[in-house]
Amino acid sequence: MMKQVYLDNAATTMVHKEVIETMDAYYGDLYGNPSSIYDFGQTAKKAINSARETIASVINAKADEIYFTGGGSESDNWAIKGVMAANRKKGNHIITSKIEHHAVLHTCEYLAKNGYEVTYLNVDSDGLISLSELEEAIRENTVLITIMFANNEIGTIQPIKEIGDIAKRHGALFHTDAVQAFGHVPIDVKEMNIDLLSSSAHKIHGPKGVGMLYIRKGIKIDNLIHGGAQESKKRAGTENVPGICGYSKAAEMAMDSMNERMSYVSGLRDRFLKKIPEAIENVRLNGHPTKRLPGNVNFSFEFIEGESLLLYLDMEGISASSGSACTSGALDPSHVLMAIGLPHEIAHGSLRLSLSEFTTEEDVDYTIEKLIGVVHRLRLMSPLYIRRK
Ligand SMILES: *Cc1c(COP(=O)(O)O)cnc(C)c1O
Repeated sequence: MMKQVYLDNAATTMVHKEVIETMDAYYGDLYGNPSSIYDFGQTAKKAINSARETIASVINAKADEIYFTGGGSESDNWAIKGVMAANRKKGNHIITSKIEHHAVLHTCEYLAKNGYEVTYLNVDSDGLISLSELEEAIRENTVLITIMFANNEIGTIQPIKEIGDIAKRHGALFHTDAVQAFGHVPIDVKEMNIDLLSSSAHKIHGPKGVGMLYIRKGIKIDNLIHGGAQESKKRAGTENVPGICGYSKAAEMAMDSMNERMSYVSGLRDRFLKKIPEAIENVRLNGHPTKRLPGNVNFSFEFIEGESLLLYLDMEGISASSGSACTSGALDPSHVLMAIGLPHEIAHGSLRLSLSEFTTEEDVDYTIEKLIGVVHRLRLMSPLYIRRK
């Protein structure tokens, strides 16, 4: 069988065996409804509340500040729409950045069409926002600042504590999309002055379709989903008990292994960061060289189409991702690569490799070897590359 190397962990991750076992129990014998008063239902209820404790402890929150949702996108939608609706009296202004996930950007665009005002902060060539630009953008009517913890394409980690401090000083609320950061790097919502935080289970080796929104106690927020009294009457719908318990198991495992995993995975990342520019000419690293997720590698290869690169790597058994156009069905390359100032033709030749604890040194070396060959072959087909020689 051909070697398979999965390097798309920013898209989704392999579910831990232990997580599947945990979920199995709640799909099987323990199928009760947590809202039922008899003991069988209460067993499920207890499991959810224990999951709430575990997940809260990952970010130094309290259990009653964690609300389970149907994933990262729902959490982002809820945080932004819910906070803006509940604080309409204070104002209608949102500050975000140009490199947010579409779950945040498209939500802001939707609100902008419905009477809200949105400021999109620029980022520098490493993908960092400017704290002074943020501070200057804050107005009397600014209700919410929503800036992602770490970017899913280029891996750049924002100065979250500094953003939280600025928000607090100016009386604005601070939401962060921490889907790529939760369980991967240390987060402390108290220390970092984070008011709302989104996370998703399937980015930490948990199941798809379950996530949470942390809402600091006392924050005014409207419901997104109306109905029954679940999640302290803030998010209706019978709880995804197996999903929540699997999420909790994944979060517990992520927390227990965090330090070890960070150094292991970032070691593999740095092997890519060192070896690719050594072996291939005309490459550019995207994202901050050091303030970046342990598992994120993102390069642009001049004179190459990212799509072709993905197809050729796929033929070698390597699963990766690109910020080039066709992936998303759009004509323009990714908004993130545009925002860090890449010219179109360079953005089109980008490759994201996202690693996990299951990635091995052998996988890294195999991928680099194949990449060298594929880039060479593709460039030989590029008239632009040949002409410049
Ligand atoms: C994956 C991701 C999301 C969406 O989460 P889902 O659970 O897939 O809805 C949101 N933001 C970021 C940064 C992500 O990486």
